[in-house]
Amino acid sequence: MEDWNEKCAIVGVYNVPNASILSYYALFAMQHRGQEASGISASNGKKIATHKQMGLVTKVFDAPTLKKLQGNSSIGHNRYSTAGEDSIDECQPIFARYSLGEMALAHNGNLTNAKEVRTRLIEDGAIFQSHLDTENIIHLIAKSPKKSLTNRIVDALEQIQGAYALVFLSRTKMFAVRDRYGLRPLSLGQITNPDGSMGYIVASETCAFDLIGATYIRDLAPGEMLVFEGAYSQHNTTPKSLQIFTPQPKFCIFEYVYFARPDSKVFGKNVYEIRKQMGIELAKEHKIQADMVIPVPDSGVAAAIGYSRESGIPFELGIIRNHYVGRTFIEPTQSARELKVKLKLNPIAAIIAGKEIIIIDDSIVRGTTSKQIIKILRQAGAKKIHLFISSPPTISPCYYGVDTPDVSELICANHSLEEVRDFIGADSLAFLSLSGLQKSIHHDDDNHQGFCQACFDGNYIIT
Ligand code: AMP
Ligand code: SF4
Repeated sequence: MEDWNEKCAIVGVYNVPNASILSYYALFAMQHRGQEASGISASNGKKIATHKQMGLVTKVFDAPTLKKLQGNSSIGHNRYSTAGEDSIDECQPIFARYSLGEMALAHNGNLTNAKEVRTRLIEDGAIFQSHLDTENIIHLIAKSPKKSLTNRIVDALEQIQGAYALVFLSRTKMFAVRDRYGLRPLSLGQITNPDGSMGYIVASETCAFDLIGATYIRDLAPGEMLVFEGAYSQHNTTPKSLQIFTPQPKFCIFEYVYFARPDSKVFGKNVYEIRKQMGIELAKEHKIQADMVIPVPDSGVAAAIGYSRESGIPFELGIIRNHYVGRTFIEPTQSARELKVKLKLNPIAAIIAGKEIIIIDDSIVRGTTSKQIIKILRQAGAKKIHLFISSPPTISPCYYGVDTPDVSELICANHSLEEVRDFIGADSLAFLSLSGLQKSIHHDDDNHQGFCQACFDGNYIIT
C-alpha cells in the first residue's frame, strides 16, 4: 500500500459563464477539506489555463488571477496533506498536453497500487513531475491506445486501484468519476444561468452548492462516470451517465464522524443530524450523572447537543475556540501540535470551576488534543472530567485518502482503554460502539448501504 495520503476537496463546473469564479467559491466553502494548497483550471473551449499555489483559497486567488481563468468550464482542488514536498508540483489540478490536446485533472483519494503503476510507467520511459498518485492517471490516459478521451479515461481507471473521486477537464468536455466503492463523496448539482440555460456542478460536499445557489440533484453512484459535453440549453438535458464499474458501495464512515461540514449532505444524508444522533446513541450507551455536557469545539458540538438532549444533562459551551489558528492535526511535530491546542481552545473557568463535566469529542487519534484539553480544564478548576467520544477507538490507519498517522501513533491501537484514560488524564473515558455509530447513520431508514469502517475495525476492503 502507498503511504502517500491525500485528503482533499474537488469541484467541477460546466456550462456556466465565468466558471472559475464558481469553482473559487466552491473551494472556499470546502476549505476545511484541505488548507495546504489550492488550484483551478478553466477552459474557454480553445485552451485550458491553470493557477495553483500553496496556501488557503483566499490567498491563492484574487481578482486578476481569476480573470485569467476564463471560460464556461472549470475544475478545482484543495489539497490536504502532511506528507511530501511543499512544492507547486504537488498541487492540483494537474495539467498536461497529449495527443488529443489538453487536459487537467483533480483527484480526491488515494490509489493503492500507485507504486506498481508508477514503476511500470517509468520502466516504459515516462518522466514524472510530482509524487502524486494522480499523475499516474494522466500518463495512463496519454498512453492509452483508445481513440476517444472517454474510452481512454475508462482504460486508465481499469488499471488503477484504490479510492478516487475525480474531475477531468478537456478543452470542450468535463468528466466526473467515483471509484466502484464510492469511498470518497461526490455530488451533482444544477445551476440555472441568467439566460435560462443549465449549468452543472460536481463537488465533494454540498455546502459548495449552497454558497453558489446550485440545487443538489444526487450523488454520483459508485463506479459511475458523468460526461458533460455540448451546451445544456434545455431544462431536461442531463449529463450522460456511464456505469463503468459494478458498484460495491463502501462509503467512508469517517466523513460523518469528522471530515465533512455539518451543513453538507454526504452520501445522501445531512451530516449534522447524524452527528447529533451519534451523541444520542452515546448517551444511551454511556449514561452518567454530571453537572454539564461540554463539546470540544467545533468537532464535538453536534454530538454534545445529542448527548445533552438524550441524557437531560445541561449543554454548555465551556470551551471557546479561536477561529484564526487553523487545524492542529496538520502540524508536523508533536510539540507544535500541543501548543496549537492551547492557542486554539480556552475554557470558561467561571462555569467550569468546581463542576463535574462530560466533554464530548468526535474521535481520538494520537490523544494529544484530548490530553491538552483535559489539562486546561483541570487548570480551570473542573472537579471531575469524563471524556466521551462519539465514535469507536481509531485503531487502523486509512489508506484511502484520509490523512491519519501510522498505526504506531494511533493511541487506541497500542493501548488499553485504561491506559489511554490514564495518558489523557480523564476521570473516565468512553467511546461509542461501532453498532451505535451504524445505528446513528441508519436511525431514520432501513437503507443499510455499505460503509468502509476500516479505521475502526481494521477490515480493509482493498489491499
Ligand atoms: P488527537 O490529538 O491526535 O487525538 O486528535 C484528535 C482530534 O483531531 C479530534 O478532535 C478530531 O476532531 C481531529 N481529527 C480526527 N481525525 C482527523 C484527521 N484525519 N485529520 C485532522 N484532524 C482529525
Ligand atoms: Fe474512511 Fe476510515 Fe475507510 Fe479511511 S479507513 S475510507 S477514514 S472509513
